[in-house]
Amino acid sequence: MRINCPICGERDHREFTYKGDATAIRPAIDSDDMDTHKAYIYRRKNSAGTHRELWNHTAGCRTHMIVTRDTITHHITSVEPVGPFADQLKEGAK
Ligand SMILES: [Zn+2]
Repeated sequence: MRINCPICGERDHREFTYKGDATAIRPAIDSDDMDTHKAYIYRRKNSAGTHRELWNHTAGCRTHMIVTRDTITHHITSVEPVGPFADQLKEGAK
């Protein structure tokens, strides 16, 4: 599988680190509902088909990105940078 990093271009997936489900919503830090915190940390859907995932280009520019990927075919339909410079990267790509 190859991932098109918004900064470095297309690279082998072994240069990247999977950081988890990009659709999981972090509960409020001051929430004392432990079931919500446990669900955020441990419960995952493991769905077959299109999935939004957070990846980091650890062996490259270290940019975090959301990769939309089919978990069966590994076909990637989009890669979006996330983080403090995401808007600038998206502007540069236009
Ligand atoms: Zn990169």
